[in-house]
Amino acid sequence: MSQSPVTPTARPRRPQLNLTVRERRLLSPSMVRVVMGIDEPERYADVVPPEKYVKLVFLDPAGEHPSPAPGQNPDYWELKESLPGDRQPVTRHFTIRRYVPERDELWMDFVLHGDEGFAGPWAARAEPGDRIIALGPGGKWAPSAEAAWTLVAADDAAIPAALAVVEALPASARGEVVLEVGSPRDVLAVTAPAGMAVRWVFRQDAAPGDTRALVRAVQEAGWPAAPEGVQVFAHGERESMKALRDELLGRRGLAREQVSLSGYWAQGRTEDVFQAEKKQPVGQIL
Ligand SMILES: Cc1cc2nc3c(=O)[nH]c(=O)nc-3n(C[C@H](O)[C@H](O)[C@H](O)COP(=O)(O)OP(=O)(O)OC[C@H]3O[C@@H](n4cnc5c(N)ncnc54)[C@H](O)[C@@H]3O)c2cc1C
Repeated sequence: MSQSPVTPTARPRRPQLNLTVRERRLLSPSMVRVVMGIDEPERYADVVPPEKYVKLVFLDPAGEHPSPAPGQNPDYWELKESLPGDRQPVTRHFTIRRYVPERDELWMDFVLHGDEGFAGPWAARAEPGDRIIALGPGGKWAPSAEAAWTLVAADDAAIPAALAVVEALPASARGEVVLEVGSPRDVLAVTAPAGMAVRWVFRQDAAPGDTRALVRAVQEAGWPAAPEGVQVFAHGERESMKALRDELLGRRGLAREQVSLSGYWAQGRTEDVFQAEKKQPVGQIL
């Protein structure tokens, strides 16, 4: 693939991957997996699990998001430069739950959060043969094999990343995995090292993004006496992550380098608003 020109001040352009849906599989009432083939696998060179993500591209926000025809994948960066503001493609971040190199395949797991938005509704209806553009992958964080105790905490949107992290831990890892979903019907199978206790917590009637269940579960985890050697991966709704920041860096006394803390979405905000708010105090977690 030819590299797009980069001006000194511009962010590097992520490579474009053209994907074709192979399968849609319901994992729980609130989560669907879409298995996608990579059209040009030679472009997909740098995948190192676990926390890799792409930006999925929804081409025409004013229209029906038509699937690009085979062999006619539009160039995202050309469209971005040429289309007027109200026709700009929309992008949404999604974790690569698994990369299967022998089948040139990516798995992505989508929260079914209703009819609003682009990505959730697209995944709910994705059919074999549908095509979509992804930009990336990005994401650098990986768990340290040296950590004495690991906490992995996530809500639904970050569960794909959290499970990829848990699968990447060494067999000797010790710690806890705390996963928040709506109800016991949303629980998924987890493969974790024997020393990682897995605990599911339920929002029950509270709305997604309600901070209490996840924060309480993190407070109640079997923390070691001292923070040395602890590592934390905590990703999810923005306000939950702010509450966890106070818990982890404040009450628990962890250093910033010990913690991967990231907001994945914000209640009542589309991703565009959520991303734009990162430049304002309300959007800042660390
Ligand atoms: C690095 C990264 C990786 C991510 N990986 C995943 C992933 O693997 N799977 C995944 O499902 N999400 C993931 N997310 C979160 C996802 O990008 C957002 O949830 C995104 O807003 C979904 O886009 P949408 O078009 O469906 O909804 P939008 O158009 O962005 O939002 C429409 C409405 O739905 C609400 N909404 C959005 N997401 C949720 C949710 N999870 N629960 C309840 N309400 C919601 C919004 O607040 C808004 O009111 C990731 C985010 C980041 C930053």
